[in-house]
Amino acid sequence: MPKEDLVNLALRRSLFYSAAEIYAGSPSGFWEFGPVGEKIRRKIIDLWRKELVEREGFLEIFGAQILPEAVFKASGHLASFADPIVQCKKCNATHRADQLIAEKTNGIVPESMSTEELAKLIKQHDVQCPKCKGKDFTEVRKFNMMMKVDIGATGQQPCYLRPETCQSIFLDFPRLFKTMRVQLPLGIAQSGSSFRNEIAPRNTLLRAREFGQMEIEVFFNPKKINEVPRFSEVENYKLNLQTLKDKSPRAMNCKEAVEKKIISAKLIAYYLARAQQCWHAFGIPIEKMRFRQLADDEKAFYSRESWDFEVETELGWVELIACNYRTDYDLAGHAKESKQDLKVKEEGCEEAFIPHVFELSAGIDRTLFVALSLALKTEKRGPEERTFMELPPRIAPYLVGVFPLMKKDGMLEKAQEIEEELVSYGLDVFFDEVGSIGKRYARVDEVGVPFAVTVDYDTMKDGTVTLRERDSMEQKRVKAAELPLLLWKLQNNKIKFKDI
Ligand SMILES: [Zn+2]
Repeated sequence: MPKEDLVNLALRRSLFYSAAEIYAGSPSGFWEFGPVGEKIRRKIIDLWRKELVEREGFLEIFGAQILPEAVFKASGHLASFADPIVQCKKCNATHRADQLIAEKTNGIVPESMSTEELAKLIKQHDVQCPKCKGKDFTEVRKFNMMMKVDIGATGQQPCYLRPETCQSIFLDFPRLFKTMRVQLPLGIAQSGSSFRNEIAPRNTLLRAREFGQMEIEVFFNPKKINEVPRFSEVENYKLNLQTLKDKSPRAMNCKEAVEKKIISAKLIAYYLARAQQCWHAFGIPIEKMRFRQLADDEKAFYSRESWDFEVETELGWVELIACNYRTDYDLAGHAKESKQDLKVKEEGCEEAFIPHVFELSAGIDRTLFVALSLALKTEKRGPEERTFMELPPRIAPYLVGVFPLMKKDGMLEKAQEIEEELVSYGLDVFFDEVGSIGKRYARVDEVGVPFAVTVDYDTMKDGTVTLRERDSMEQKRVKAAELPLLLWKLQNNKIKFKDI
């Protein structure tokens, strides 16, 4: 499904749209989520929480978005979290130097490339300003992407909006380890907003300045990186791996990947598998996924081993999760800067040590965008074309639409009664009594509501309703009284619609 179709749908149905859109000068890269978009977004977070955080026994926190400068001095962001930029001397537009070169050469420009090297490549490839076609640029300089905030009346306390959610996880680790009666390996998770002053926000939700992250940091004893009690659950599970040597991904089970040293340890393979399973639950087909191994010059500055979880879309491969072996980089940095001892002791082990960390850092809005764009379908049915979103019930904005065929002869009241009953069971219901039934089906189809219930004259006689499935458009006659359990089973994949 072309990206434009999704963006059009998003605007038409207010799934997401630019922040402060009534003001012409609002900065780009900030997004609002309307009622339906926010519901899908929240369900994506909830499913991640259920499938990954709770299933693995991780702890979840909610940290502050503004943190003091010392945190980012220790984390390395103050020194290293910068993009190379150039300005066009003719039109003054600012561009990312690496992107200009990458677009001109259709290649990847390593993150580690120096400003001098970038300037040389701009000259060598005769790069033009995308805005005015000028070829005269200023020097390449590094631009720190963190957003600074001055706290207090005198603004003397320099702080930053967090550029990633994980720093508070590192800061909270010693407290949680002491107070939560836990042992290593210990996973701590957080979802929330992060902020990066992107020079060129683009592709709507894929590169924004404020964006949602769902992050998990697993703290472990590096000597026990191959002691993973539940590894047997995933050892035969296949990952789509693309190593530095591969041109395309190949499926390989976790056991083999570890034995052949393609993935360095069981703990890493285990969490890659759990991540792939969770994103599959978002409705993303396995054959569209890959874990791409990053080369040394492509990896983030804190990572020893990195796999980018990417999904193939019509915009190319889109990174949804950064999977990084961060070693003790963060805790050691914070220990040094804060002058606190962040070492821990394990039971039955004399020596104190700083735990290592493996991270699954996922984008919420990117996941939402990719899940929607893969789910959005058009289909010819006779002379008509219909649009529908094939979202899994668990991340659909509503589980079911409830429609009275007409507003007369008690049908409206009966439909309202059914709606209330379903809501009292905790199910998400969308009620609509306006327009033809066909139009009402079309409206819920295109935002991904998987089922619809229609109350008609037969309902008034025998208590049955029409239950319709979005994808097949098939209809079944079922008893209204059985709807709560039936819909719950459909939502949680306990039965299939065709088996009703
Ligand atoms: Zn220009």
